[in-house]
Amino acid sequence: MAAKNFDLIVIGAGPGGYVAAIRAAQLGMNVVVVERENLGGICLNWGCIPTKAMLRSSEVFHLMHRAKEFGLSVEKVSYDLDAVVKRSRGVAKQMEGGVKHLLKKNKVTVIMGEATIPAKGKVSVKTEAGTEELTAKNIVLATGARARNLPGLEADGARVWSYRHALVPPHMPKKLLVIGSGAIGIEFASFYNTLGAETTVVEVMDRVLPVEDAEISAFAKKQFVKQGMVIMEKATVKQLDRAKDKVTAHIESGGKVETREFDTVISAVGIVGNTEGLGLEALGVTIDRTHVVTDEYCRTGVEGLYAIGDIAGAPWLAHKASHEGVMVAELIAGKHAHPVKPESIAGCTYCHPQVASVGYTEAKAKELGYTVKVGKFPFIGNGKAVALGEPEGLIKTVFDAKTGELLGAHMVGAEVTELIQGYVIGRQLETTEEDLMNTVFPHPTLSEMMHESVLDAYDRVIHM
Ligand SMILES: Cc1cc2nc3c(=O)[nH]c(=O)nc-3n(C[C@H](O)[C@H](O)[C@H](O)COP(=O)(O)OP(=O)(O)OC[C@H]3O[C@@H](n4cnc5c(N)ncnc54)[C@H](O)[C@@H]3O)c2cc1C
Repeated sequence: MAAKNFDLIVIGAGPGGYVAAIRAAQLGMNVVVVERENLGGICLNWGCIPTKAMLRSSEVFHLMHRAKEFGLSVEKVSYDLDAVVKRSRGVAKQMEGGVKHLLKKNKVTVIMGEATIPAKGKVSVKTEAGTEELTAKNIVLATGARARNLPGLEADGARVWSYRHALVPPHMPKKLLVIGSGAIGIEFASFYNTLGAETTVVEVMDRVLPVEDAEISAFAKKQFVKQGMVIMEKATVKQLDRAKDKVTAHIESGGKVETREFDTVISAVGIVGNTEGLGLEALGVTIDRTHVVTDEYCRTGVEGLYAIGDIAGAPWLAHKASHEGVMVAELIAGKHAHPVKPESIAGCTYCHPQVASVGYTEAKAKELGYTVKVGKFPFIGNGKAVALGEPEGLIKTVFDAKTGELLGAHMVGAEVTELIQGYVIGRQLETTEEDLMNTVFPHPTLSEMMHESVLDAYDRVIHM
C-alpha cells in the first residue's frame, strides 16, 4: 500500500501531542496523530485529571468530618473506594472523549497504533489491522514518559504500586509507604492518608517537596505531620522484602538501616522518557538520561523532527507540554514562535494543603547573586480564608531589590493552585512591585493575600 502523505505527523496524543495537532490544523496543515493507548495521554487518563478527581473525594471526606465546625451534622461518614475510583475513571473517560471530539472537529486524522520512525520524514504505524506507512516533512515526537522503576523497588501491582496501580487500587492500604515526596508521591500520600491509611513518606532529600522553597516545604510538612503522616527525610529505601500480604522495607537514615512493615508501597521515584523502540538512535537524535535533547524551539537537530513535553525533559508538566505543542506548530507554520521559559512555568501540587510556585526560590535567587526583598503573608490574616475555615497557609514573594522584578512566588494553603496564575501573568508581563502594589484586589478573596505578600516585601503590609 502506498504511504499516506501529511503536512505533519504527531506521535503521541497527550497534552503535548493533541494540542500540537489541533494548533497545526488550525494553521491549515493536514495533520495525523498516532496514539498507542489513550487519547489525552498520561495527563487525562493516568495523571493530572484522575488524581484530582480522587483528591476531590478525599477533600469532601475531610470536610464531612469537619461538618460540626460549620454548624452542620453528618452521620456515619464513610467511603466506598470502588465508587471513588469509578468516579475518577469516569472523569478520565469523559476527558478522553472530549479530546476525540476536538481532534475530529479540527479534522485531525487519528490512527490508533504504535509508531516508529524508520527514516527521516517517515513513520510506520502498527495497528490492529496491520502496518500503515506515513510520510510528512515534519514530525513531532510527543511520546511522554512513564514511572521510573528502581532496582529492588519495582512496582508489581500487588503490594508495590506505581501511580497507575494507585489510581485503580486492588485494595485500600492500611499501612502505606510512599517512596518519594515529589508532587506525585505526596498527592497519593495525601489521598490515602485522608481516607485513613497510616502513611509514611520516605524522601531521600533533606525535605519533602524538595523543589519548593524551603519555608513552604517546612510549612507543608508540619501540616502533613499534624494529619498523622510519618515523614522521613534524608532517608533511603534500600530494599523491599515482599510477602503475600505485607512488604518489609529496609530504610536507611542517619547511617543506620531499620526495617518497617507495610501492607502497601507506592513507588514515586521519578519518571523516564519513552524514547525506546522509535528508531531515534539511528536517526542521530541525542538522548540524555532517557530524554531527547532539544534546543529552546524543541528542535532535535534532525531536520523536520521536533520533541515536546515529557520526552523532552523537565519540567514534567502538562501545561509545559501543551505550550511547546503550540509553539512547535507555529514554528512549522512559519509564525513567530515563543519558546517556553522554564522559570515562568508554575508547578502545582494538589495535596492537602495545596502547594504552588513559580520562579526562583529565595535560596536560588540568592545563589544566582540577586539581592532580594522577601514578603510573606499568612492565611490567618485573611478574612476569606478564615470564613472558609482554611486559616493555615502562607504566601511568600521574592523580588529583585534592585529592579523590583518578581523573581518568585511560593504558596501553601487552600486553593493556591488556582491563585498562582495571578503571579504567572505578572511575570509574563514583566510586572514590577509597583504595578502589583497598585493593583486593586477584590474583597473578600484569598487573592488579597497575594497583594499583602507583595506589600510586606516593601514594608507596607496592612493586615499583619
Ligand atoms: C500521577 C500523575 C499526576 C500528574 N499530575 C499532574 C498535574 O497535576 N499537573 C501537571 O501539569 N502534570 C501532571 N502530571 C504530569 C503530566 O501527566 C505530564 O507532564 C503530561 O502528561 C506530559 O504530556 P506529554 O504529551 O508529553 O506526554 P503523555 O501525556 O505521556 O502522552 C504521551 C502519549 O504518547 C503515547 N505514545 C508513546 N509512545 C508511542 C508510540 N511509539 N506510538 C504511539 N503512541 C505513543 C502514549 O501512549 C501517551 O498517550 C502528572 C503525572 C502523573 C503520572
